[in-house]
Amino acid sequence: METRNCQNCKNDFVIEPDDFSFYEKIKVPLPTWCPECRMTRRLAFGNAWGVHFRNCDKCGKKTLTMYRPDNKVKVFCDPCWWADDWDGTEYAMDYDPNRNFLEQWRELRDRTPHFAKDALYITLKNCEYTNAIAFSKDCYMSFWADYCEFVYYSAFLTKIKDSIDIFRAFNSNLCYESVGIGNCNRTYFSNECDSCVDVWFSRNCYNCLNCFGCVNQRGKTYMIFNEQYSREDYLKKLEELKINTRTGIEKSYEKAIALWNSLPYREYTGNSRNLNVSGDYLYESKNAKHCYMCSGVEDSKYTQFVSVPKATNCYDYYGWGNSADLIYECATSGEGVSSLKFSFGMFANGLDSEYCGWCIGTKNNFGCVNLKRKQYAILNKIYSKEEYEVLKEKIIKDMKENPYKDSKGRVYPYGEFFPPEFSLFPYNDSNANKFIEKDKEQALREGYNWQDKVENSYQKTIKGNNLPETIDETTNDILNEIIECADCERGYRITEGELSLYRRLDIPVPSKCPKCREARRFSLINKPRFYESECNKCGKKIKTMYDPSQGKIVYCESCYQQEMN
Ligand SMILES: [Zn+2]
Ligand SMILES: [Zn+2]
Ligand SMILES: [Zn+2]
Ligand SMILES: [Zn+2]
Repeated sequence: METRNCQNCKNDFVIEPDDFSFYEKIKVPLPTWCPECRMTRRLAFGNAWGVHFRNCDKCGKKTLTMYRPDNKVKVFCDPCWWADDWDGTEYAMDYDPNRNFLEQWRELRDRTPHFAKDALYITLKNCEYTNAIAFSKDCYMSFWADYCEFVYYSAFLTKIKDSIDIFRAFNSNLCYESVGIGNCNRTYFSNECDSCVDVWFSRNCYNCLNCFGCVNQRGKTYMIFNEQYSREDYLKKLEELKINTRTGIEKSYEKAIALWNSLPYREYTGNSRNLNVSGDYLYESKNAKHCYMCSGVEDSKYTQFVSVPKATNCYDYYGWGNSADLIYECATSGEGVSSLKFSFGMFANGLDSEYCGWCIGTKNNFGCVNLKRKQYAILNKIYSKEEYEVLKEKIIKDMKENPYKDSKGRVYPYGEFFPPEFSLFPYNDSNANKFIEKDKEQALREGYNWQDKVENSYQKTIKGNNLPETIDETTNDILNEIIECADCERGYRITEGELSLYRRLDIPVPSKCPKCREARRFSLINKPRFYESECNKCGKKIKTMYDPSQGKIVYCESCYQQEMN
């Protein structure tokens, strides 16, 4: 064991015995930043949610993109970036041993064209207004999604169909306004439910059918607010609650939240098919330590956001998986990637590469940017295998002797991920701010970029609070309205596909804008930070991601299980 002081936050952190063997195995020096600072830095290099419109720098067409319109880098729309008329070698640079390597890398980055969206375009159909998405069709304003169909305003999804306003979900259909659902059908306004059907306003329920406002139930039917009803009385009561009306929904929600908060939470969230794990929101994982929001992670540590299984032998890696192996200090990479270090935006079988960004189907590359299907390249220039190995070793030596120094005085020798100032996204657009919120002053102080957002203002035609109570009373005229959000006064529209889904789900059109709805869902999850706490029943010390200041009742695993029996 070794205690080190973080180069960034100046707090001590510990390198454990098994960490040493991992670092030795993949031949990297010990980290100089603590795990949380490393995670934040990586997250700042991805941007699933912060989208804007700008024109393609090749064809001139307007496209949705991760880049601000005033960002100076070249941005290509999907068809232009994925076209076969360029592969990145056009921008090749010779390595200059008299200059800092990362400075040369940045120069190359600024010469190459970037994809507008971090999406596997060739696997998408009718998903123009989405980002961080693959293998999907007919989705709209959905971010970080794989294998989805007809999904609106949702995020962090795998295999979701016909759903709106969902966050963190897999294998589910016809769901609405829920967070943390798996294998569910027709589950509405619910959190952390697994294998449920026709369930409303419930949390931490498993294998329930026809339940309403329930908490911590297993295999139950016809329960309302944790009380058992007969089938007849259940249906009668549901009728009385008028859950197809806006007022009925609000009333039930209020009552449900009060019940949710009065009953215990389990120290961590995840399913029972985990073995030897620590962290939160973990599913089907084993030997996964300090992980967050992962499915199918094995023999890994400090890994986050693996939404598509599997990821194996990874340290300091975030999302999305789908067969990722032996990854260290990488961001937004997946799809058969293996043996990657200090890279981001690597997909479609990227192999054996270091210090690369946005490379597709490439292997054995060092310091390449926006390169497609090439090998033995350095700064996008192709070498013979022998030349490549010699030059790579020389650069690694140079990086150790002449490390990049950032504006805050932090140094980046070989073994360090890119400096925060290298991210092309303002911190407030990046994935980092979604999970580790910082204000402008703090972000700038830590060397991250920041850019204030200019909101478009629209002439609103109807107030959210004045929308009809039910979907039956809503005509197609709604498609022509610009609705004023009941909370923040932003304007928003309803699209045809979305309206058809509200009709199928028998849910009234929401009175709040998509941004406010999304913010509410994000507020319902624990952020990736551990707290030393105590079980509220037996007093045992627990490590949990529930912030004790929120005042939730949190039970240790064994007390929680007893409660269920
Ligand atoms: Zn730190
Ligand atoms: Zn274009
Ligand atoms: Zn709003
Ligand atoms: Zn306990």
